[in-house]
Amino acid sequence: MERKTLFVDVVLPLPIPGRYTYRVPFELNDEIQQGMRVVVQFGKQKIYTALVYRVHEEVPAYVPKYILSVLDAAPVVNDFQFRFWDWMADYYMCRPGEVMNAALPAALKLASESRVVLDSSYGGEMELLNERELLVVEALANRKALSISEVSDLLDQKKVIPVIKTMIEKGVILLEEELIDRFRPKTEVCVRLSEKYKDDDVLRPLFDLLNKKAQKQLEILMTFINIERNGPEKSKHITRQQLLKDSETSAAQLSALVKKGVFETYEVVFSRLYKTDRTDDPASIVLNEEQEQAVADINGSFELGKVALLHGVTSSGKTECYIRLIEKTISEGKQVLFLLPEIALTTQIINRLRKYFGNRVGIYHSKYNDSERVEVWNKVLAFGRNGGEGSSYDIVLGARSAIFLPFSNLGLVIVDEEHDTSYKQYDPAPRYNARDAAVYLAWIHKAGVVLGSATPCIESYYNAKSGKYTLVELLKRYGNVMMPEVLVADIKEETKKKLMKSIFSNFLLEQMEQALANKEQIILFQNRRGFSLRLECKECSWVPQCVHCDVTLIHHKQSGNLRCHYCGYTARVPDKCPACGNTAIMMKGFGTEKVEEELAVFLPKARIKRMDLDTTRTRNAYQRLINDFEDRKTDILVGTQMVTKGLDFDNVSLVGILNADNMLTYPDFRSFERAYQMMAQVSGRAGRKDKQGKVIIQSYNPWHSVIRFVIDNDYASMYDTQILERRNFKYPPFYRLLRITLKHKDSDLLNRGARIFAESLRRRFNEGVLGPEYPPVSRIKNYYLKNILLKFRKDVSVSQQKNQLYEEIKVMGNSTDFKSIRIILDVDPL
Ligand code: ADP
Ligand code: ZN
Ligand code: ZN
Repeated sequence: MERKTLFVDVVLPLPIPGRYTYRVPFELNDEIQQGMRVVVQFGKQKIYTALVYRVHEEVPAYVPKYILSVLDAAPVVNDFQFRFWDWMADYYMCRPGEVMNAALPAALKLASESRVVLDSSYGGEMELLNERELLVVEALANRKALSISEVSDLLDQKKVIPVIKTMIEKGVILLEEELIDRFRPKTEVCVRLSEKYKDDDVLRPLFDLLNKKAQKQLEILMTFINIERNGPEKSKHITRQQLLKDSETSAAQLSALVKKGVFETYEVVFSRLYKTDRTDDPASIVLNEEQEQAVADINGSFELGKVALLHGVTSSGKTECYIRLIEKTISEGKQVLFLLPEIALTTQIINRLRKYFGNRVGIYHSKYNDSERVEVWNKVLAFGRNGGEGSSYDIVLGARSAIFLPFSNLGLVIVDEEHDTSYKQYDPAPRYNARDAAVYLAWIHKAGVVLGSATPCIESYYNAKSGKYTLVELLKRYGNVMMPEVLVADIKEETKKKLMKSIFSNFLLEQMEQALANKEQIILFQNRRGFSLRLECKECSWVPQCVHCDVTLIHHKQSGNLRCHYCGYTARVPDKCPACGNTAIMMKGFGTEKVEEELAVFLPKARIKRMDLDTTRTRNAYQRLINDFEDRKTDILVGTQMVTKGLDFDNVSLVGILNADNMLTYPDFRSFERAYQMMAQVSGRAGRKDKQGKVIIQSYNPWHSVIRFVIDNDYASMYDTQILERRNFKYPPFYRLLRITLKHKDSDLLNRGARIFAESLRRRFNEGVLGPEYPPVSRIKNYYLKNILLKFRKDVSVSQQKNQLYEEIKVMGNSTDFKSIRIILDVDPL
């Protein structure tokens, strides 16, 4: 039989252009497939895990190296993904390896450091082993673990995976590689009564004994029995953790009971991904007339191959429409991707979907650890391998990185809160927007796309207005719940009349007191975290600055520190001004922490909680704040943007927006759009079935057009004014923006380089080049930054314009003076 000479083009996990070709050893001809990981050598003696992009027989112009081994028995990445990655690298102007790094969970990016160890169940039977296998066993007996490349040195052969594979099958060795390690199923220590004490007659005297001598232990025992008899689904397994928590006792007390032989402990394997069974049939949802129409319009749009923009006011029932669409899609045997902003991915929405779809829903969240993510990855992959049989997901609810999952038959993509800026990845490359990428992803799969929002981004609405997308509207809240009444507190007026109490208008305070008296809840929105914006010397106006970045340090009351919000640098609050020696240093501006503290002064009885980046660092903190608010253990929730996202509380009657002006004066062409979105979204949290909610906006400028649009709930008029500006000043959607950031430690060199670069760009793009300018923060971690903004015309081929840009970048890269300047490209910056 003739042996083919095969080659593979692989993607390396490095920010290098293009793909590299390697030769496949004959022995691996039958195993190698596109989408498998292989071990290759790249550069001097460096070993990497690369991904096979293509298998072919085209002999390259140079003599390629051999691949060293194949890591997978089946592909981990499919053809759809490769097409998606290619598009992403091209569109966002980054390297294939950068896309791969963003796409694969860390555990799948193993290098050849993967190690093998002896299987503890192997009894040392030599007769099972051939010569090479014996060598490996001997080496392992001495060294405990060997990496795959070490095994390959030991055996003096490149393709060791087959050897390793058979040895694993024979039960001689195990892969200790991180992959396996990270995958180790999560086990929990559980507690049960020992056989003897299952008898009530033995148990009863024990109660009396403990009652006299060991109250704490009695507490544990009683808690145990209570959980066992009354807990959820008759709690088959009671974990040690739960028992200690519920009984509020210490591990020592429990150990004492184990020592006495009352309890015994054992381990149980739990899936990391919690399970729930579906409790409701999606068919039981009855949509109202508007919702039925919306779903019909969306389905109609899909038939035309068009993206549907669902513009539905807050609480119009967008989610119910999504559920209907999901049901249809999975009944056709296809997969669904439901994207949400990270922060909106709460148990509220998860439970809502699980209620209808149970275990078919997988959650993909960046706060999940890597093994959880690999578990989701594999279950989505499993759908492709066995057509949805067994344990696989056909619905994934996820944050932006969920677009990278190995879908094989996507039928529907939902992007909820499509205007949300957290869909954009800033750093590192690929600097993609998951909403826009999702539209492309759906196109590859010929899947339908719904972009949903109460406040769509201007670009999406423009697409809908111009007919590229289908505009579907839900303009009423579900069940005739009224939109909230929006009122303005005129700060200028109140200041003049000396009515202000610290940062609160008298109007807002009165309304808060009223709501509290009615036992209703309140949300206060302040667009900044930290205690105060900054410290400032009264005498000389000195302001503390970060030593690494060009930003003002923010004061954090709780820690008593000044902190840089860019790099995390912290400093102590000085006793006196380091510039002039004056001790009169004062606070300027206010953040959430200050709001929380001042509130306690004016409303001492209210139970107040704060929700911002500082109070939600741990995985559960955010959820706990929400639960407490839901359970009405909190009266007032003070927070940043976080409180504006997708929360649904039924007892909030009042929303306060403390400082509308700082959103409106932010120097950015999107600031009005953003201000409208934030105010409209947070307003949407007010209102209940039986009572109209109220929103109070504090502002120096109550007649500002954006505030008026919020009051009138008039998105369309906001859009009309903004789209005019965009057209006049040449911004998206009429032009495509590309931000070029140049970076260097030497500011002089950077300035010269940036000027020359901008000049060369001007020769090609004329007035489409803005800058170079210092960004608002011009130095981060000791690197100086300079921005150039490019406006691509839409009437000339974008790829041609990109190529021109690449050519200029190449010139910079070849220049002896400026090649050390780093150039960062951000396509469609926000
Ligand atoms: P949105 O996502 O547009 O903000 P939701 O889908 O959260 O709105 O709906 C708001 C509220 O109205 C929710 O409590 C939801 O359960 C309820 N609701 C909406 N549509 C229906 C329906 N067709 N049947 C029953 N309840 C509905
Ligand atoms: Zn800093
Ligand atoms: Zn001073």
